Amino acid sequence: MISIRLAPLIPVSDKVVNELVSPLTSIFQSEVSIEQSLRDLTEMSYDSSRAQYNSTSCIRELLKVYPDSTSKILGITSVDLFVPVLTYVFGEAQLDGTIAVMSTYRLDDALYGMEADPIIFFERVLKEAVHELGHTYGLIHCKNFECAMHSSTSVEDVDLKGAALCVECQKKIGIL
Ligand SMILES: [Zn+2]
Ligand SMILES: [Zn+2]
Repeated sequence: MISIRLAPLIPVSDKVVNELVSPLTSIFQSEVSIEQSLRDLTEMSYDSSRAQYNSTSCIRELLKVYPDSTSKILGITSVDLFVPVLTYVFGEAQLDGTIAVMSTYRLDDALYGMEADPIIFFERVLKEAVHELGHTYGLIHCKNFECAMHSSTSVEDVDLKGAALCVECQKKIGIL
């Protein structure tokens, strides 16, 4: 069975990374571990003209740290990620690869001038983690609006879906 390794990319909340272990273990039926935090990786991906962090560059740098991984590696950070054609991304992944990256930055209600709700925040973080990891398992976007692989471009979209993979997606990655 393929294992999952969570790579904290500073800055990130250790608490959030720790809390992901148990639900990801049951959703992917896989061993989940936490790697040593990486301090400089996000800085190397900083784009001063946008004052944001390039997610594709984060993936490239993670690939240098984990060149021959047989595990799925999910980098988690709290900085604001982007790809050049989009204003922001929640995350990015190698489809059917080994590396994914995600940010908690846009998942926090405090960013939108609302009171932060730690339970809703963590649910969003988990959904995004499952989504990006799902891409590394080869899953594409799912039409089932309750499935974690359903496409989300806003937190409202994220809140509408669940954290679990639908039956079809589970079958595709061989855990059902
Ligand atoms: Zn996606
Ligand atoms: Zn699905």
